[in-house]
Amino acid sequence: MIQQQAFTEAKRMLKGGLHCHTTRSDGRGTPEEVIRYHYEHGYDFLAITDHRFYNFKNYAPDVPVTIIPGMEFDNDFEVKNRGFRTFHTVCIGPSKEDGNGFEQDERLTSGTAKNQEEYQKYLDEFHAKGNLTFYCHPEWSSTPARYFDKLTGNFAMEIWNSSSVMGCDMDRDASYWDELLGQGKIIYGVATDDGHPMEQHCHGWVMVNAENNINAILNALKAGAFYSSCGPEIYNFYVEDGKAVVECSPAARIRFQSDMHPTVMKISENASLTRAEFSVNGWAYVRVSVIDRDGNYAWSNPIFL
Ligand SMILES: [Zn+2]
Ligand SMILES: [Zn+2]
Repeated sequence: MIQQQAFTEAKRMLKGGLHCHTTRSDGRGTPEEVIRYHYEHGYDFLAITDHRFYNFKNYAPDVPVTIIPGMEFDNDFEVKNRGFRTFHTVCIGPSKEDGNGFEQDERLTSGTAKNQEEYQKYLDEFHAKGNLTFYCHPEWSSTPARYFDKLTGNFAMEIWNSSSVMGCDMDRDASYWDELLGQGKIIYGVATDDGHPMEQHCHGWVMVNAENNINAILNALKAGAFYSSCGPEIYNFYVEDGKAVVECSPAARIRFQSDMHPTVMKISENASLTRAEFSVNGWAYVRVSVIDRDGNYAWSNPIFL
């Protein structure tokens, strides 16, 4: 049996936010308000990732939310006479004591990269400083996979971004993820909010199989021991005897997919599916999406076969 890493040795699943903004950059809520708001919505951890402005600090120290150090970095790249595209990357890292090479309130400057090869040097620098990176809102950035598929070292990419969904109806269901997975890349999918105004926070999150401390959470993310959700819960996902099996909270639809036919959708008229299976013989990987009666998604990470 191959069990997706989120579901091995069941620890408590931690609910976490990996991408948000505050008044430290162009968000509307103060860092303290944003932390409290996430706590009220059941979050165990949160990264405050203001634009090019690194944060380690817990601005609401009485609230039991683990703050993951981080920031968001960006570079634009020009397309002659036709507007521009942009690369955005969230960095998350350990404490200073555990080797994070950034400083509290360190500011970075944005610039222009000619292409993804040139942008790679920034990722290399962030990784050398002990940080993990993930690629943000590819649809909103107008970067189909061919514009970011050669970047190396990203542990994940965004498959849901509440700000892009609410602003542009984009980045809502992983449209470019399978292009990278189909190339054999091991890259996980994260749901984030990228919340700027308060109403954009707490719609998309990750559920991580880890102890509640920064290093354990980072290690679990890097290992793919998590799933992403806007509501539904996934309790188990594994492949056994050529069949992928998922167990989950009551669902109206469950979709198994890879980068080849046949994608299969199991449907329940009364939204009562709590288990589904599908033969995946010949597939290189399988992932599953669980959709509840209100249309909210949860996405497993892939099982590589
Ligand atoms: Zn961004
Ligand atoms: Zn952002």
